[in-house]
Amino acid sequence: MEKLISVSDLFFSIQGEGKNIGKPFIFIRFALCNLSCDWCDTKYSWHKDFLDFKTYTLSELLKNIENLSREKHCRNILFTGGEPLLHQDAIRKIMNALPTYFFEIETNGSIETELPFDQINVSFKLKNAKTRTYTLKILPFIQSNDSSKGNPDKGNPDKYAYYCKLQNSAANASDLLTVSFSDTPSSVVQRFRSNFAIFVTKSYLSGFPKYVQQNDGQSRDVQNKFFQDKNIQNRNHQIDDIRHKNFLRKNVSYKFVISHENDILEALNICEQYKIPLKNVYLMPEGIRKEAVLERGKWLKKRCRGIGVQFTPRLHILLWGNKRGV
Ligand code: SF4
Repeated sequence: MEKLISVSDLFFSIQGEGKNIGKPFIFIRFALCNLSCDWCDTKYSWHKDFLDFKTYTLSELLKNIENLSREKHCRNILFTGGEPLLHQDAIRKIMNALPTYFFEIETNGSIETELPFDQINVSFKLKNAKTRTYTLKILPFIQSNDSSKGNPDKGNPDKYAYYCKLQNSAANASDLLTVSFSDTPSSVVQRFRSNFAIFVTKSYLSGFPKYVQQNDGQSRDVQNKFFQDKNIQNRNHQIDDIRHKNFLRKNVSYKFVISHENDILEALNICEQYKIPLKNVYLMPEGIRKEAVLERGKWLKKRCRGIGVQFTPRLHILLWGNKRGV
């Protein structure tokens, strides 16, 4: 059975942020994310309450991309999400099928990749994102459309349907693991009440070698150890060496979402610690309303001047507000 690719949005617009701001792109917004940021403006791509995506076969997706490309005279593709690097298999195939296109990606920087993107925009999350640490049991991902496997809660049709949708969707990402609060059906309900993203990748978890269970069909409780390890507790606010190496390429920009003065200090500390050249760093005002972006943007633009980093607005918010597919 052909693997399906989960996409929340597929549209043509202009890049609203960062180095290629204003340039035309075909946006492919993949579903699912391995983080859960408080101020995320695309929660419909991953959050249980808003989740919305379509599934495509590779050939269907390519056909849609090529139609848009012809119609809009555009050969630039922007992979975004959610976290697009959860879908590397699909991305690789798209890149191979369209060798003359320009490929840019927006990623949270937590997942390794060796794909040859033309431009990588890493948006590391600062403390203001309040993204949460995983505290869960890790189960090997079951690559199957058989929804009876790992059935979480057949007694609750809504939750069960949601679970199946995710399972089905994740079947295209060969190295995904399923993360759940517990393997007992009743406690899986908690998972649906949580804001936690459901999937993480093996490569991401390989940063936790002591605790990650190999794909041997066994589950293993990592919760207590997880919380006892300070490095892991602080992980959401750090860039580790693995990530840094991974993204230390010429064509990488680093983007930090800034709400307050403290965020600037945190971002600069990260840049200093990991020797990120400031010429590749963009600070962007947090906000999903035009007024908030304008007000914070005026302040932030002035702050950027004095410290040698670039300022980027959120052009799409300024032009269209917090609308989807623009
Ligand atoms: S990493 Fe990006 S898509 Fe994922 S929750 Fe955070 S802001 Fe949203």
